[in-house]
Amino acid sequence: MADLRTTPTAVRSPFRATTTEIDWADGHKGIYPHEILRGYCPCAGCQGHSGSVRFLAGGDTSIKTIEPVGDYALHLAWGDGHDTGIYTFRYLRALCQCAECVPADRRDERAERQRL
Ligand SMILES: [Zn+2]
Ligand SMILES: [Zn+2]
Repeated sequence: MADLRTTPTAVRSPFRATTTEIDWADGHKGIYPHEILRGYCPCAGCQGHSGSVRFLAGGDTSIKTIEPVGDYALHLAWGDGHDTGIYTFRYLRALCQCAECVPADRRDERAERQRL
């Protein structure tokens, strides 16, 4: 059976929005500021092949397209043409920035993430 925690039921990313929302099947409402999604782009071009993912500031944070990849990931294309980021549902779930997942006093931390 699919893991409800890593099964999205809806992805909302309106044109010109600065935050994408993902509803997860366990009822969790995921919040993803585009600055976070771009900074933590997991692609090899951004991160090399290490097991961890560093936050890289400065990329274009306008999302051009979001498309599903099979039943395990989302493919994000950015306004500056960067389009090699494949974000697995497990990775996205761990990256959630909602108040429950990231308390206000940790909001500005940009710790290394595990590649999932
Ligand atoms: Zn990248
Ligand atoms: Zn959350």
